[in-house]
Amino acid sequence: MTIGAILPLRSNVEEIFRELKALGLSHCQIGGNNSFFTDEIAGRVKAAMEKEAVTITTFFSGWPGPMVWDFITGPITIGLVPPEYRLARVEEIVKTSDFAAKLGVNQICTHVGFIPESPSDPLYPGVVTALKYVVAHCMQNGQKFLFETGQETPVTLRRVIEELGMEDVGINFDPANLLMYGKANPLDALDIIGEFILDIHAKDGEYPVSGRELGVEKPLGQGRVNYPALFKKLKELGYDGPVTIEREISGEQQKKDILMAIELLKKLI
Ligand code: MG
Repeated sequence: MTIGAILPLRSNVEEIFRELKALGLSHCQIGGNNSFFTDEIAGRVKAAMEKEAVTITTFFSGWPGPMVWDFITGPITIGLVPPEYRLARVEEIVKTSDFAAKLGVNQICTHVGFIPESPSDPLYPGVVTALKYVVAHCMQNGQKFLFETGQETPVTLRRVIEELGMEDVGINFDPANLLMYGKANPLDALDIIGEFILDIHAKDGEYPVSGRELGVEKPLGQGRVNYPALFKKLKELGYDGPVTIEREISGEQQKKDILMAIELLKKLI
């Protein structure tokens, strides 16, 4: 396993990769919207990656429209689940896949949303149809499509993957999200979906203490994720891919927390 970090795409792309290199890391996940998806930016990203000798493991796709990260408005705003935003978001993921292909990135990831627990839910078939289209497009670009864990239970995620029945589908495992959304103990979740993991968000957090708000995110090592036990189990599963640090704050504290996470992860992986 090797350590990376998740960084947002911004206009000064060269700086992103300089920062990554300065952290002593050789790979990252990147996220951005289609306002960046020009040939000019693609050329600059490729040049910067080459100059700093770093790679992008996974491109995280955002989407247009509202999104609220909670249990009340989240289910009707996040990902491909709300029907009124689904088409625009499928189009955004397709554009992300095409842009990432220009960079040679072979994994596309997103939050699909609060996928209905019941396959009989009227929203369920439309979500699966949208996913089939998105995954097929990624495959045409030689890419795998990754579900980021969070809003759905591990067994629901597994059922959707089985139903898609497509190769080139995997999981970006965010153990903190499983806690913060109250969906699973991350260690136990590995028993259900561990075999599909292709990238990991190293993040920490707590279970929710209200029925409306997510649990809080914490610096790595200060939350409820048992990272020593998690990495032990990942090794047993044969996982040998990237471990991508995610810290959902900005500024100097984010940098400090990322540096602390790097030191902690070096001991664990
Ligand atoms: Mg994450």
